[in-house]
Amino acid sequence: MEVSIERAAVIGAGVMGAALAAHLANAGVPALLLDILPPEDAGVEGDPASPGYRNTFAARGLENAVRSRPAAFFSKAGVRRITVGNLEDDLDQLGDVDWVLEAVVERLDVKKALFEKIAPYLKDTAIVTTNTSGLSIEEMAGALPDSRRPRFLGTHFFNPPRYLRLLELVPHSGTDAGVFAAMESFGEEIMGKGVVTAKDTPGFIANRIGCHWMMVVMRAMLEDGFTIEEVDALTGPAIGRPKSATLRTADLVGIDVFVHASNTIYERATGDEDLALFKPPDIVERMVADGRLGGKTGGGFYKKIKKDGRSEILTLDLDTYEYREKQRAKFPSIDMAKTVEDVGERTKQLVKGKDRAAQFLWRVTSEMLVYSANRLGEIADDIVAIDRAIKWGYGWELGPFETWDALGVEYVAGRLEEEGREVPDIVKNALETPERSFYTRDERYHRFYVNTGGSRTEVGVPPATIDLEQVKATGGLVKKNASASLVDIGLGILCLEFHSKMNAIGPDIISMIHTAVRETEQNYAGLVIGNQGKNFSVGANIMLLLLEAQEMNWEEIDLMVRGFQRATLAMKYRRRPVVAAPFGMTLAGGC
Ligand code: NAD
Repeated sequence: MEVSIERAAVIGAGVMGAALAAHLANAGVPALLLDILPPEDAGVEGDPASPGYRNTFAARGLENAVRSRPAAFFSKAGVRRITVGNLEDDLDQLGDVDWVLEAVVERLDVKKALFEKIAPYLKDTAIVTTNTSGLSIEEMAGALPDSRRPRFLGTHFFNPPRYLRLLELVPHSGTDAGVFAAMESFGEEIMGKGVVTAKDTPGFIANRIGCHWMMVVMRAMLEDGFTIEEVDALTGPAIGRPKSATLRTADLVGIDVFVHASNTIYERATGDEDLALFKPPDIVERMVADGRLGGKTGGGFYKKIKKDGRSEILTLDLDTYEYREKQRAKFPSIDMAKTVEDVGERTKQLVKGKDRAAQFLWRVTSEMLVYSANRLGEIADDIVAIDRAIKWGYGWELGPFETWDALGVEYVAGRLEEEGREVPDIVKNALETPERSFYTRDERYHRFYVNTGGSRTEVGVPPATIDLEQVKATGGLVKKNASASLVDIGLGILCLEFHSKMNAIGPDIISMIHTAVRETEQNYAGLVIGNQGKNFSVGANIMLLLLEAQEMNWEEIDLMVRGFQRATLAMKYRRRPVVAAPFGMTLAGGC
């Protein structure tokens, strides 16, 4: 089926819709942003013809996107690519769009009514998708005329869509394969997302595993008497999870949003062996009823207050339901683990320990591992999709199956058996492979394989993605010193990769910048400065400067500064284009 997306429409200008329109604009795609008519008397601030301005909701959504932090738009110029309108006066304009992305309230009846309403206005080739977090795609497809169903599917983006990499694509039984493939490449290549294929099940992949994890952690906290601070200390960076760990993440997302996602699974995932777990604990229900929804209402598990002119964070006391002073969580094992760089090793060390921290972590991690293994075939057809979804959507460093491998499949299965717990069949299969793991890695070529039933399948790098390690291992390395490499990434492009500690810039990187510029002038069409470490660059190596300063080697420092200056000028004034791809920490000189 021929597919080309030149113009899009986003319907629903709420949190997601407005941010999605902004991200389309970022990608250069003009977008129509529509919402319902406001009530009769609604006027709008900023107010083209208020009161009675009929585009109030869409205009307000756009304004929110413009003001949002982190920024939804790359630049102000993108705002002009968005046209606001309403669902009464502007339906005709839908006839010009190639993709309608629905992002209205999470109600099946509302979404179905909307599809029925817009269908007659769309051109034959238009693709229609829904951004539902967990409603049935199959049921929604039923609201579209037969002829439109092949061009309908679920596109589940994560909030904020500019920043979270995951896009779950969810076909229904009649989605055309060509349309699906076209959305896959549009998502990856134009919108810059990491796409996974999810099955049409409640919560799809990431929210199913992510909500289960939240619930497992909350239950363990309440049943085993852990404080909120303790839980966040145990379930954050220590085990490769975001800094906001579990409960501060819930505050950031909104306790109501999280409870809604969890309840959707509870109501729809009948047959799930852990179904009861998705019903939020009483205290969480009480928080929702009392409006303790997290940061947006001023308090959730944590509460920010002003005291003596300074802000202070209080914590919810789980026994008294009052906010109290924050208490530091003390776990010597967590402090010790901080010295272990590799997240898999670190998690293994923590889970295998004998202290209270280890008991908690074994309980929650083993429940997550078993639950994820039992979901294969139900929420996705392969373990790579499950691992990628949770990493890209929830920011885990290791997906569930990567965690199985990191802890040792044999170890986890053995311990489950000792405890009289069921070992999932796919784990038994993994144990029958020679490697006794879910993944294997070919060190030489930096390729990964999934072990399935005795055979190995290569895990492809996601399309439109370059794995620098793999490119280097397969002949792409052009030059290298201790802190930087030049890599031929194809299509006549050279990549300057930093790999010093924290990617701090010192003499080796500066010298490689000069080499990169020369090499590009002679042999390449352009240069990309990018790497796949944790951070782009934390700036100049200040330690070196400090040492020289202590020795009062002012001339040496002057030379360093001039050297860096010359390197940046070299990049600026050469004939070939130089593109920097910053991410994560990009500080000072790195900036
Ligand atoms: P929201 O409440 O912020 O916005 C919903 C928008 O829908 C509002 O602008 C509202 O005016 C509009 N609307 C209400 N009734 C309507 C109707 N009858 N017809 C057309 N528009 C109507 O919601 P949101 O958080 O942006 O979520 C939108 C969708 O995206 C939902 O399906 C939600 O499950 C999904 N989603 C949300 C998130 C998230 O984190 N917020 C993440 C992923 C997916």
